[in-house]
Amino acid sequence: MGKTKDEKVLDEKQSGLLAAPMKRGWPASNQCMKFVKIYDKTSFKTLQPVSDDFIIDSVIQTAANDLQKHKRRMATMHIHEKFKQKPCVFSIEVFPPKKAGATAESLYPALKAMSRLNPDYISVTYGAGGGQAGRSTGEIAAHIKNDLGIESLAHLTSVNASREQVLETMEALQKANVENILALRGDLDPAVPNRTDFAHASDLAGFIRKNADFGIAGACYPEGHVESSSLREDVENLRHKQQAGVEHLITQLFFDNIHYYRFLNLARKAGITLPVQAGIMPIVNKRQIQRTIALSSASLPPQFTKMISRYDHDEKALFDAGIEYAVEQIRDLIQGGADGIHLYAMNNETVAQRVYEGICDLL
Ligand SMILES: Cc1cc2nc3c(=O)[nH]c(=O)nc-3n(C[C@H](O)[C@H](O)[C@H](O)COP(=O)(O)OP(=O)(O)OC[C@H]3O[C@@H](n4cnc5c(N)ncnc54)[C@H](O)[C@@H]3O)c2cc1C
Repeated sequence: MGKTKDEKVLDEKQSGLLAAPMKRGWPASNQCMKFVKIYDKTSFKTLQPVSDDFIIDSVIQTAANDLQKHKRRMATMHIHEKFKQKPCVFSIEVFPPKKAGATAESLYPALKAMSRLNPDYISVTYGAGGGQAGRSTGEIAAHIKNDLGIESLAHLTSVNASREQVLETMEALQKANVENILALRGDLDPAVPNRTDFAHASDLAGFIRKNADFGIAGACYPEGHVESSSLREDVENLRHKQQAGVEHLITQLFFDNIHYYRFLNLARKAGITLPVQAGIMPIVNKRQIQRTIALSSASLPPQFTKMISRYDHDEKALFDAGIEYAVEQIRDLIQGGADGIHLYAMNNETVAQRVYEGICDLL
């Protein structure tokens, strides 16, 4: 028995073909879907036009979404370009799953949910906070870029890495279509003798700039880096990053916006012209508090400590208060002219969603 036309379309989709609306801007409703094009799923070349008036909505919708993602994926985008296009860039940071045996894929449902918040990019840490160095950073960054159609930023630390290793990582990222790197030195481990291939993040940034065409971001510290004798000295050192080719900066987390404003003022006076994204971490449970503070050395303003002690014994209330605190911080920063917001969402899509809901009218 011959197949109906809609069965044919479904067959083709399963065999690697996609249907997409022929005219841009048509809504995916069946009244309008009289004409579709069939695209090859990998090359996206048009194979044949089909005239049909009962193509199933969901097929069309999926195809249109795929095409959209494909277009975004193919568009070369260094993240710093985004700062020229909008007043406030919004990004989310995730880390590779840390539990023993956890695969990169276990993070994908959370990433899918985060992608619906339409972030300008998602960054993926490199061995931070106790994970194995670099494990699955590239894989996750590639998934964000190629499967979710969102720009990705792969963190890369150079401490204890040789030039050859860094080149290998860069090649792997390029092959995976990841076009942006956050160039970091990484924390020094007194138990491990340091390699001297890259003494500072600026050396890594310069090396990347010389050897490949990546968008390059760098880290900065509104309260000063622990190794610097003063905030001023730390800010002065940012000039090395800027000269080496870093194109935008992301701050360490902070709980009092005064640090961001003061830092920015100093940085501009020191000739740092790069866009500076404010890094904000919502504190939503007790476990996070000690660990975060130890890792970041961020100072705690009285309104923050008050909130923590007030909701200390009420998990749900602490969660809500932590979100509210972060939302207030971010709203103030956007209204104060921050170039961007980088959300340390701790792989928690609910946290990302709740914060986004509180700030999306300003983005
Ligand atoms: C947004 C962000 C993301 C991060 N992601 C990760 C991650 O994924 N993985 C991870 O392990 N860690 C991560 N970190 C932590 C980071 O690796 C540590 O803070 C580390 O101690 C410093 O890294 P850096 O790139 O800022 O180093 P550097 O820029 O090298 O700075 C380190 C110190 O050296 C000074 N300095 C810098 N350049 C020079 C120079 N040319 N000459 C003399 N002195 C100089 C600085 O003032 C500072 O005191 C992140 C930090 C931030 C803010």
